[in-house]
Amino acid sequence: MNSIDPLTGLLDRFGCLQTAQKLATDSTASDKPFAVIWVDIDRFKQINESFGHQGGDEIIKDLAQRFRKRVSGRAELCRMSGDEFVFLAPKCDRKQAQQLAAELISTVEEPLTLGNLTLRPTASVGIAIHEYGEDSLALLERADRAMYAAKAKGGNSLVCSGDEPIPGRLGITLAREELEIESMLHTALETGGLRLHYQPIIHTSGRIEAVEALMRCSVNGENIPPGKFIPVAEKTGLIIRLGEWCLLQGAMYARFLQDAGHQTKVAINVSRAQLVSPKFPQALNAALICSNVKPELIELELTESLFMDISDTVQKNLKSAIAAGVSLAIDDFGTGYSCLANLKDIPARKLKLDRAFVTVLPEDRRALAVVKAMTQLGHELGMIVVAEGCERQEEIDALVAVGVDAIQGFFYARPMPEEALLPWLQKRNTK
Ligand code: C2E
Ligand code: MG
Ligand code: MG
Repeated sequence: MNSIDPLTGLLDRFGCLQTAQKLATDSTASDKPFAVIWVDIDRFKQINESFGHQGGDEIIKDLAQRFRKRVSGRAELCRMSGDEFVFLAPKCDRKQAQQLAAELISTVEEPLTLGNLTLRPTASVGIAIHEYGEDSLALLERADRAMYAAKAKGGNSLVCSGDEPIPGRLGITLAREELEIESMLHTALETGGLRLHYQPIIHTSGRIEAVEALMRCSVNGENIPPGKFIPVAEKTGLIIRLGEWCLLQGAMYARFLQDAGHQTKVAINVSRAQLVSPKFPQALNAALICSNVKPELIELELTESLFMDISDTVQKNLKSAIAAGVSLAIDDFGTGYSCLANLKDIPARKLKLDRAFVTVLPEDRRALAVVKAMTQLGHELGMIVVAEGCERQEEIDALVAVGVDAIQGFFYARPMPEEALLPWLQKRNTK
């Protein structure tokens, strides 16, 4: 099934990838040409900044409608991201693709009215023609690169792959890698390639403070590190689905531990995209109801950068989480740009100091002073303070000396699969 972009009703990035793959295979089998046309609206950022995202969205919807009218039946229409559209045209050779691209450019240039202003946007366009046996990612990447070459000429122009005056752009491999990771994430969601691993957080008294659920993703035996797939999931919006999955799995596991006699809190990471969505309370309640776990056994870890600017929706979502009985933790504290004024308004129970402060201990006295001040601040605000990423005894000694309440790190335990955690807990005799 093709996946659709909700704003425009066109194929989204993943739908584009799937369809392009099919058309590439058909093109190789039938020896008929297949063209990809990549269109990027010039200075769209400026439009967004001047008219706000709502105004930007209106323009995107309007353009999508015009494109649909103009090319309907000749190409599959896709919206890749913000202002980037891709047209997949089967049985279309280079000359026909140039003709189609010229039509697309004039479609973009038709006057647009927004409030009392009339805009005449322009576009940069890249064309790539499928080569025998070429896979869809390589083809899309060539069209994207050609589009960037058109942009580099100052915009409002058209470049065919192979004619670029510059060899490529910085970060193009990243673009390809991101598309690959995105595709793997979809596969993982469909084929059960996602897992949660759990890492214990240990109170200085020796009791288990909580276990943190950390997502793992593997596709066809290949593990993708969270540092790679989480940013892609966040960029593409997939994190909403992954996050809902985590909430449910984490809550079920907390229930499993509860049934096994361990009142162990499970801490689940929640991304900004989840928390700015009005649907968040629904997802959280669904996880709590389905698992039937005691809500006080669930903690939500929220990244510090979330608090730079707290919208009404975020505030409502945090309140509803507290009302549901779960607790909150502020993750990776000290590295982002959190506003201390906002910090006082967040009803969090726990402050997690970022690993960056820990690795330089105990030698770095200034870092230690900062850790001490952050710990005091956390305590003053009624929070317990956890240090993340502790690998050495000396680090732990320094942290305990400045009043940190609990430790998470490889020194005590690495994140481990579900089946390993219960024996680990039993071995520690925390029953
Ligand atoms: P985080 O939430 O700050 O998680 C702690 C990270 O520190 C984990 O990395 C953990 O394996 C690592 N860590 C813990 N102790 C040590 C140590 O002693 N040494 C070192 N070198 N590392 C240590 P991981 O699992 O790779 O996750 C990275 C980040 O990805 C997480 O940072 C979190 O921001 C994100 N993430 C992971 N799972 C999820 C998830 O389910 N949802 C969301 N939204 N983000 C997640
Ligand atoms: Mg975390
Ligand atoms: Mg962290």
